[in-house]
Amino acid sequence: MTVYAAPGTPGSKVTFKSRYENWIGGEWVAPVKGQYFEDITPVTGKPFAEVARGTAEDIDLALDAAHKAAPAWGKTSPAERAAVLNKIADIIDANVEMLAVAETWDNGKAVRETINADIPLAADHFRYFASAIRAQDGDHAQLDGDTVSYQFHEPLGVVGQIIPWNFPILMAVWKLAPALAAGNAVVLKPAEQTPVSILVLMELIGDILPPGVVNIVNGFGLEAGKPLASSNRIRKIAFTGETTTGRLILQYASANIIPSTVELGGKSPNIFFSDVAQEKDAFYDKAQEGFVLFAFNQGEVCTAPSRALLQKPIYDSFLADAVIRAKKIIQGNPLDTDTQMGAQASNDQLEKILSYIDIGTKEGAILALGGERADLGGDLTGGYYVQPTIFEGHNKMRLFQEEIFGPVLAVTSFIDYDDAISIANDTIYGLGAGVWSRNGNVAYRAGRDIQAGRVWVNNYHAYPAGAAFGGYKSSGIGRENNKLALGHYQQTKNLLVSY
Ligand code: NAD
Repeated sequence: MTVYAAPGTPGSKVTFKSRYENWIGGEWVAPVKGQYFEDITPVTGKPFAEVARGTAEDIDLALDAAHKAAPAWGKTSPAERAAVLNKIADIIDANVEMLAVAETWDNGKAVRETINADIPLAADHFRYFASAIRAQDGDHAQLDGDTVSYQFHEPLGVVGQIIPWNFPILMAVWKLAPALAAGNAVVLKPAEQTPVSILVLMELIGDILPPGVVNIVNGFGLEAGKPLASSNRIRKIAFTGETTTGRLILQYASANIIPSTVELGGKSPNIFFSDVAQEKDAFYDKAQEGFVLFAFNQGEVCTAPSRALLQKPIYDSFLADAVIRAKKIIQGNPLDTDTQMGAQASNDQLEKILSYIDIGTKEGAILALGGERADLGGDLTGGYYVQPTIFEGHNKMRLFQEEIFGPVLAVTSFIDYDDAISIANDTIYGLGAGVWSRNGNVAYRAGRDIQAGRVWVNNYHAYPAGAAFGGYKSSGIGRENNKLALGHYQQTKNLLVSY
């Protein structure tokens, strides 16, 4: 067990500045209007840094810098860009603990996640796209004796990116890595709830990139995000966030006829067929973990398995075991490596979660566990903690249909295979899903029949670089984490040449 010292206390891995500016053109630039907002750590509920409150004027400055940088960066070779991306990955790897503590302090999630997953994955995604761009081929076809059609990939130029607060560094990297690999210059707006850890990352990697290739403008959605997404000076907008915001982004983009990729919300079903409980062995244990742990690592994951579907014969026993297991979840100081469940990212999020617990109770769902704000005592009393919460109900309830984005698991039963698939697909979303069965045929078939961009079969919550990630239905348009994402940041040029 390690308990990392809180930033600002002796022995901490992180020293935050008291004030963060925007990163524009390779330097820290104060906001044009001179306004700042507070970044609050969910761990204690106290502010720890001031951050530039960007507006349309700052977005313009960043776009100036990006336009200046884009032509030269776009002309570098894939090998040159790959070298830069690999260097960034090396720096991230050399600073995993520091970045993990910064991320945990900014977002509230348990450090065992940031240190073992979020930050190492960020490095790996840079490496993946460094390889992917070097391996990307164009194509050509001899159309007749005299004519050849050549297809080339070109960078789009300057692109805008807007990200949410649930994986601040990793979400930034999912967007930056393919965009940079493809040769674009970027203006990125972090979420206002969690801007600082990305800026700490920029302190480490900012100088490796030519000035203006990556620009970070902080601020709120309408003040900084909208001017970026609706600017006619970007050639693409990439967005991750709520489905309602995604709709607005698509509207802004349509006015300028630019492509947009939107990674949106989810309400992922996690299906457990009866054979899972045929023995109480290692497989059963893994399935129990898949039911409990990934719903309760704060639950602020777009693919959180927030709807559990249990086949009738095992409903009571499997749920009873899961409740026992959920009671043992270690909720505590997010900077303690033993902690499995940390804080929710913001007070607004905490209140939203509590309001859904209220909604669930009012619509008649049965509370099987939790249901309240958690007071962890000491310095953590002001932090944003919610008990792991399990409700039993049916799929028509709001609890089962609306994204809560917190540690609230809605459980229901199903009769047979068709019933399971029908309940699973009865949602506007289609981002993630889980299937658990010892029967390979059933698991495979269900994996194919569920309408979701990612189905975990007999596992959950892994996001390896290379495995395409994105949504069906209202969960989004586009794919990340895979070489397919390069295409989202490239223009196709065709030369039709007669010899
Ligand atoms: P959000 O939509 O409220 O905000 C996301 C970002 O958009 C923030 O940076 C915000 O400032 C900005 N924004 C808000 N309004 C805007 C506007 N009108 N114009 C431009 N920018 C605007 O989402 P959130 O609450 O930060 O994030 C949680 C959501 O993100 C959940 O729905 C979750 O499922 C989703 N998410 C999806 C994925 C995925 O890959 N599909 C990954 C992580 C999170």
